[in-house]
Amino acid sequence: MKDDCQFCKIVNGDTSTQFLYENDTLVVFKDINPHAPVHLLIVPKKHIRSINDLTQDDKNIVSEMITIARDMAKKESISSSGYKLFFNVERGGGQIIFHLHLHLVGGW
Ligand code: 5GP
Ligand code: ZN
Repeated sequence: MKDDCQFCKIVNGDTSTQFLYENDTLVVFKDINPHAPVHLLIVPKKHIRSINDLTQDDKNIVSEMITIARDMAKKESISSSGYKLFFNVERGGGQIIFHLHLHLVGGW
């Protein structure tokens, strides 16, 4: 938990953010400023700044983020129409929240 991190606050339940899914490793919630009809964020509970900061120990977290994103796409009924999964990495890559998260967008 990093005190000044918005996503640490969310994963700790310190905000009114509704989780669409939660397990021991991660939570899933809607992006507050959606760029598509479906725009979800898959967010690990562990504070990791960005893809650049991943260690060997984080391999399972990333793998789980991707498989849960796949499951959420199915739940949202956008599996067969298709969707995008992406990470923005650091400022030049468009990252504005420095707590790792995977975007799931689709439903156009
Ligand atoms: P980034 O550009 O860092 O990859 O994406 C951060 C995303 O988090 C943005 O799409 C932004 O709309 C979303 N976001 C930022 N603050 C909040 C928040 O407090 N709640 C929710 N649900 N989404 C947020
Ligand atoms: Zn954090």
